[in-house]
Amino acid sequence: MASVQPQTTDTLEPPTNGVNGATTNGTTNGFNRNLSTNSLKKLNSPIPYCGSTNDLPAYARSNSTLSRHSPDSAASVKASGDNLRECTEYVPLHKRIEKRISSGTPFFSLEFFPPKTANGVANFLTRIDRYRDGGPMFLDITWHLGSDPANIEKETSSSSIAAACLAYCRVDTMLHMTCAQYPKEQTLKHLQLAQNLGIRNLLALRGDLPINDSDPSIYPYRALDMIRWVRTHFGNYFTVCASGYPKGHPEAPSYAADIAYLKMKVDAGADFIITQLFFEAETFETFVADCRAAGITVPIIPGIMPIASYDSIRRVAELSKLTIPKHIMDTLESIRHDDEAVTKYGIHLAVEMCRRLLDSGVAPSLHMYTMNREHSCREVLQALGLWQHESIRSLPWLPHGGHHPLRCREDVRPIYWCARPKSYIFRTKDWDEYPNGRWGNSSSPAFNDLQEYYMFYLKGLPNKEAMLQMYSRELNGIEDVCRVFVKFLTQEPNEEGVKISKLPWNEQEFETSAETELIKDQLVWCNENAIFTINSQPSVNSAPSSDPLVGWGKPGGYCYQKAYLEFFISKARAIKLKAVLEQYPQVNYHVINKDASIDWSNSDPTMPIAVTWGVFPGCEIAQPTVVDPLSFRVWKDEAYDAWLNIWAALYPEESKSRKLLQDIHDDFCLVTLVDNDFVKPSVLFEILEQVISDENEAAVTFAASG
Ligand SMILES: Cc1cc2nc3c(=O)[nH]c(=O)nc-3n(C[C@H](O)[C@H](O)[C@H](O)COP(=O)(O)OP(=O)(O)OC[C@H]3O[C@@H](n4cnc5c(N)ncnc54)[C@H](O)[C@@H]3O)c2cc1C
Repeated sequence: MASVQPQTTDTLEPPTNGVNGATTNGTTNGFNRNLSTNSLKKLNSPIPYCGSTNDLPAYARSNSTLSRHSPDSAASVKASGDNLRECTEYVPLHKRIEKRISSGTPFFSLEFFPPKTANGVANFLTRIDRYRDGGPMFLDITWHLGSDPANIEKETSSSSIAAACLAYCRVDTMLHMTCAQYPKEQTLKHLQLAQNLGIRNLLALRGDLPINDSDPSIYPYRALDMIRWVRTHFGNYFTVCASGYPKGHPEAPSYAADIAYLKMKVDAGADFIITQLFFEAETFETFVADCRAAGITVPIIPGIMPIASYDSIRRVAELSKLTIPKHIMDTLESIRHDDEAVTKYGIHLAVEMCRRLLDSGVAPSLHMYTMNREHSCREVLQALGLWQHESIRSLPWLPHGGHHPLRCREDVRPIYWCARPKSYIFRTKDWDEYPNGRWGNSSSPAFNDLQEYYMFYLKGLPNKEAMLQMYSRELNGIEDVCRVFVKFLTQEPNEEGVKISKLPWNEQEFETSAETELIKDQLVWCNENAIFTINSQPSVNSAPSSDPLVGWGKPGGYCYQKAYLEFFISKARAIKLKAVLEQYPQVNYHVINKDASIDWSNSDPTMPIAVTWGVFPGCEIAQPTVVDPLSFRVWKDEAYDAWLNIWAALYPEESKSRKLLQDIHDDFCLVTLVDNDFVKPSVLFEILEQVISDENEAAVTFAASG
């Protein structure tokens, strides 16, 4: 379509089948067995742990005590359709399109234009995350001249946005590129840049010529030229898409000449075609028939734009030199002052037209012109049954699958970033390989500096007022901090009637998971007692890979996890914890403080510990999540930084609230605990109970505030 940028603002169910390998000690979990309610020192009203384990699945009944309560939690994670575990090799987009077409499974793609402001980028990526849940085949970013499209230093450029979509949103991404406005050498540089960014899909375009330019001959290049350059200089590196015009391009000598020209673009190397928008199914049907008659055999995907408002569709039609059919215009005129009615009508029209095209098989898939809005396209895709709700995880964390040239081989990550996957991707963006054993004991991974990440992360945070509503306008003591963590876990509204959708350590908003519900009381107990948990996972012994809570990977496999808990605890308690841990040789710990002047561990200083692994038919054992001492020291800085840069920064400099958070930052230690004995009930909460068992109420507070 024309490069229009409209004015938009920016119960756990036990498994029904038998569970192989489950331990038989299925009565209570470690925490429940050992916890005496009297020994819990509460800061507010006590909430004794009283969870029943009778409704746990067998593999977890014996030993499940903790739960990941990050947004990447097992039940909440949705993998995109083709992110299968076996996708460790890059598969070109056009090959995957061909596969989907030959299997008769329609799909969809989504087109966006770059957000206008840097502030809009983080919000844009969050929106893309929501779109990703529907399982698009690829995202598509327009080449917008006003964005300074090839300037990778600019967050809002087309190239930066396409690279961010590919890296952070984990969906295959296509970048539009126009050539008319540039010398050939410049376009070759743009193509080289795209390659350097890992982009493998291009929509090769001429671009619109300046309206008032009297001499169009000064713009000699057309899409056909660029397609030829791509194939000459880059071989088959890129999947190339070409534009098609169902009514003929307005500048074409004739409709027939335009189709003949399209055939030339395909013959030069275009792998598939996306069309300009149109208003009636017949238009596309005729166009496809004419293309086939002309010998064009590649997939032709219809570009669909649901009418969202009277003004915008008129403007788009005008710019694209399209005529809106009279019967549609008449209806729009009659409802033009009722925005909701126009939107509903637009959705209805799009659903009817797309259903006809998909049912007849003339369209293999749909390309949605989203105009950076969410509602209408999502409604259309849902009504057509194309919006996926897939809950199969290929890995415990969200992988890139077979469409990212490097990350398709990534198979292990440290557990620390599980609530901050974008940050992890950012910090490892310059890694040039993801082999097995990246976290082997000889590795010394270099991470990118956090600063740039914060540029877009902080901008994506809710505004200050919304954060104050969540994190309290004033913190009078540590009990107020505890309340924030507890309210986050329980998702009960706080005193302002607001739910805490994320903690400063979470990138994404809270999504409840059955796994978290299961052990919520234990985590609440920790946080009520000023043990501030920021990450955890239950121990799992041989859960089927199909398990809805903790399963991942290929069908027919079994999954394992060691209980893991990560939290901030006062230095005084950390000292005691270290002493208590002497009695628990099966537990690996790492205790560190803000400047690493405390850095205690009972593990090999360079050896990663596998905390999640899986055994699958016909494969080596997969070990996708580790606790790694080297990267923990990197993560430490990021975790401490969140206390100050995200939370404390909300309050005036000399305020009590700010000082309190600064004191926690200065005094508290960050601790990881791994219970290696995953077949027995986990002892992690038992350990914490001992740490605080003989404290009196006053001792619960930390040294710095005393
Ligand atoms: C799916 C899609 C996405 C788009 N994305 C963008 C975008 O991101 N940014 C942007 O600026 N614009 C975008 N556009 C708009 C596009 O740039 C304009 O429509 C532009 O006027 C034509 O570009 P093109 O690549 O389709 O042109 P081309 O395919 O090069 O064709 C241009 C015109 O020249 C004619 N022509 C050229 N050579 C011959 C020949 N030898 N014989 C006969 N006729 C010939 C064609 O028939 C046509 O009329 C998009 C359009 C579509 C359909």
